[in-house]
Amino acid sequence: MCDTEIETEIDGTVTAFCYCGWAEYGHNTETANAAAHAHENALDVIDADAFTAAAV
Ligand SMILES: [Zn+2]
Repeated sequence: MCDTEIETEIDGTVTAFCYCGWAEYGHNTETANAAAHAHENALDVIDADAFTAAAV
């Protein structure tokens, strides 16, 4: 199970990230939270993409 967090960067953008290695940059607080929830709720899809990327 993924555990996401968000962090405000020096430039004011918000990064959503997860201990599994997933991250999205350039959000604001609201969209970062949405992206983080979407990641947790779409774990199977994200993992499939990660394995595909790792295999290339
Ligand atoms: Zn994750």
